[in-house]
Amino acid sequence: MENIKDKVVVITGASSGMGAATARKLALLGVKVVLAARREDQLRAMVAELGENSMYVKTDVTKRVDLDNLIHQAIERFGHVDVLWNNAGIMPLSFFEEGLVEEWDRMIDVNIKGVLYGINAVLPHMLGRGQGHILTTSSVAGLKTLQSGGVYSGTKFAVRAIMETLREEVAQTIKVTTIYPGATHSELGHDISSPKVRALYGNLENMVKMDEEAIANAVIYAISQPGNINVNEVVLRPLGQT
Ligand code: NDP
Repeated sequence: MENIKDKVVVITGASSGMGAATARKLALLGVKVVLAARREDQLRAMVAELGENSMYVKTDVTKRVDLDNLIHQAIERFGHVDVLWNNAGIMPLSFFEEGLVEEWDRMIDVNIKGVLYGINAVLPHMLGRGQGHILTTSSVAGLKTLQSGGVYSGTKFAVRAIMETLREEVAQTIKVTTIYPGATHSELGHDISSPKVRALYGNLENMVKMDEEAIANAVIYAISQPGNINVNEVVLRPLGQT
């Protein structure tokens, strides 16, 4: 394992859940963390907690200009970006028959376009430096489908295709990692509006889940490998999840 102290790591979806947990753990290891999300209050509080090796940039990943600004601000402050983790995501599950098309649109915008805009924003910088590492959070739902998760899974399968193609294209210089978490404690699913899903699963509170720290450990494992080792995929499930 390589020492990751002083690496510059940009994380989208850093205001809660696995993004926030990972940022906290990285900061303890001396990593410079750049936190991105929409909720400025949470981000401001985290920077107050994590200290001068952290900064935040209010970012809506559905806006291409916001991702460009995020990478620009990170380079201005810390000189370069070593790692971008495209982690922001939403999961308003619903059944197709419910026709919640606006939620389908939002999932596509955040979970797919947000990832593409992140890649686009950082890639010239990393190619110019001849090094870098791009991680993206897919999901176990990016490997298998479940009823009510058709669009969510669609976005996470898309992430797999995007990241695998990216890996092939930049394999000479840039590391590419896709993370497939199983059910994890977080705020994900709090925005489920589908009556049918809520009746079936509630707020997903009864599912077997793992701590966000498991994902933090996976990210640290991926980014602390020696220079010539590229961890392509990590799949993690809590015991009991099928
Ligand atoms: P959370 O809901 O706790 O975190 C989601 C994060 O994404 C928040 O920081 C939120 O910040 C951010 N986000 C949402 N929309 C936007 C947007 N438009 N622009 C910028 N940031 C946005 O859930 P998790 O930590 O669980 O989710 C992280 C990732 O993990 C997601 O991609 C999710 O799909 C994936 N995942 C989660 C699993 C789980 O069981 N929890 C399992 C498998 C995958 P804000 O609202 O402040 O913008």
